[in-house]
Amino acid sequence: VGLARTLTVAVVGIDGHAVEVEADLADGLPGCSIIGLPDAAVHEARDRIRAAVLNSGERWPARRITIGLSPASLPKVGSGYDLPMAVSVLAADGAVPADLVRGLALVGELGLDGRVRGVSGVLAAVLGAARLGYPRVVVPLANAVEARAVPGVVAVTVARLSDLVGWLRSGARDVPGAPPEEPPWPAPAGEAVGNGDLAEVAGQLAGRRAVEIAAAGGHHLFLLGPPGAGKTMLAERLPGLLPDLDRSAALEVTAIHSVAGRLTGGRLISRPPWQNPHHTASVAAVVGGGSGVPRPGAVSLAHQGVLFLDEAPEFGVRVLEALRQPLESGEIVLLRAAGQARYPARFTLVLAANPCPCGAAGLAGGGCTCTPLARRRYLERLSGPLLDRVDLRCRLNPVSRAAMLADRGLAESSATVRLRVEAARDRAARRLRGTPWRVNGDVPGPALRAQFPVAADALRPIQRDLLAGRLSARGVDRLLRVAWTLADLTGADRPGWREVGEARSVRLGGEVAGLSGEPEPDRSVTPQPGRVARWR
Ligand SMILES: [Zn+2]
Repeated sequence: VGLARTLTVAVVGIDGHAVEVEADLADGLPGCSIIGLPDAAVHEARDRIRAAVLNSGERWPARRITIGLSPASLPKVGSGYDLPMAVSVLAADGAVPADLVRGLALVGELGLDGRVRGVSGVLAAVLGAARLGYPRVVVPLANAVEARAVPGVVAVTVARLSDLVGWLRSGARDVPGAPPEEPPWPAPAGEAVGNGDLAEVAGQLAGRRAVEIAAAGGHHLFLLGPPGAGKTMLAERLPGLLPDLDRSAALEVTAIHSVAGRLTGGRLISRPPWQNPHHTASVAAVVGGGSGVPRPGAVSLAHQGVLFLDEAPEFGVRVLEALRQPLESGEIVLLRAAGQARYPARFTLVLAANPCPCGAAGLAGGGCTCTPLARRRYLERLSGPLLDRVDLRCRLNPVSRAAMLADRGLAESSATVRLRVEAARDRAARRLRGTPWRVNGDVPGPALRAQFPVAADALRPIQRDLLAGRLSARGVDRLLRVAWTLADLTGADRPGWREVGEARSVRLGGEVAGLSGEPEPDRSVTPQPGRVARWR
C-alpha cells in the first residue's frame, strides 16, 4: 500500500476540530518522522507507538516512515494522537485494511506494552466527531461512559491496540459494546444533590431566603458577615437548590471537566457543579490558562453551577478583575502563544467577606483591632464593576443559641425549597421565551425596564430611595430583577408592592457605604447609625 489515512479530533477549548493523520512508507533509510505535532511531543510519541506496535505482535515497517497531522496550524496537545498514528502506519503497511480506517476517527494514548490508555477531553472529542459527521469513533475503554453519552455517533471502545487490529481485520462489523440508539438520561449513576441540606443552617432565616432567591433568579450573591455566621454553609447549599442540568448542559459541563482532566470515573455530570477556589489561587487556576494550550479554570468548571469566593477581598486584584469577562459574556477567551481557547463560563457567583480584615467587627462584644482605614480599604477591594453584577447583598449576623434552637424545627429542607425554585424558574423561562435570557439575573437593566414594566405605585418606595440618594439607577435595576424573582417564587404575574418591598429590604439591608459602587447613603435622611456607622 505505502500510504494510508485516518482521522482524529483536536480539542481546542471544548470544540472538536477535524484532523487528518497520514502515514507514508518510502524506500530509504529506516526511520520515522512526524510532522504537525509540537516539537517536544514528537520524540515521545514516536517511541511510544513503535513500542506499542511491536509489543502488540505486529511488525514495525523497516522503511522510511513519515506521519503527518494536518492541518498543522491547529494546536495539538496530549497523547491522544498515538492511536490514530499507530493505526495509519499499520494500514500503510497493509497490516489492517486501509479502506476501513480511512473514515474512522480514533483517540487514545498508547502504553509501551500496547495498552490503550484513557485521555482527558474524550467527551469533547466525541461531541466534535458527532458534529463533524463521523459515523464511528474509537476511544479508550477507560473513557467509555463519557464517549457513549453522545447521541449520533457510535463509540468503539478498545483496551489494547491488538483488540483494535483484530476488529479491523475482521472487517469492523460487530461493534464491541455498541450503545443503545438513545443513551439513557439522566445518567444512571446518581449524584449527591449538593453539600448538605439547607435545613441545617438554623437561625439564619435571611441567609436561607437569600440563597433561595439567588437560586430561583440566577442572581449573583454577596454575603457579608463575621466568621461563624454561616456564609460558607449557605453558599455550599446553593447548588443543591438548583434543578438538574438538562442533557445538552450536562454534556457541555462534562466536556469541560473532561478537558480539564477532572472527570471522576468518567461519569456524566448531571448536577450543577460547585467550585470554591482558595483566595491564594492564581489567575490561571481561577479563570484558566497555563502553558501551551490554555486549560479551563474554576470559572469554567463552575459553568452552569456555583462559583464561591470565600474571603473575596483576599483574592488577588488580577483574579477579581479577570472575573469581569465571564460575568459579562458567559464565557472566557484565553489567548496564548500556542493558540486561543474559548470555554463556557456561566455561573452563579457567590462572594463572601468578613466585615474587616480581622473579622471581629461584626461580632457581639467587638474586639476588632483594625483601623477605620484598613476596614474601608478591605471591602473596597471588591470594586464597583464586580459588585455591579451582584444583585443580592445579604448581611449575616452571628446567630444566638436561642435563635438557632427556635428555628431548628421550622427550617425547610433543600428538597422543599428546590421545588419552589424550579417552579419560579419555569415561570421566568416562560416569560423570557424568545429572548436571549433564561433567568431574571441575566436581563440587562434597559431591557428589564422596557419589556417588563412594574406597576407605578409599587415603585414609589424605590423612587423615594433614588431621590434620597440611597439607591443608584443601577441599584434600581438590580432591585427590580430581584423583585421579579420574588414574584416568580410566589407565583404572581408581576411584582407588586410586597415583592418590591422585600427586594428593597434584602438590598438595602446589605448596603455598605463605599462598597456598593453607589453614592453613600445620606445619613441626614436615613438616620441609621447602627447600620452605616458600624461598618465604617
Ligand atoms: Zn477588624
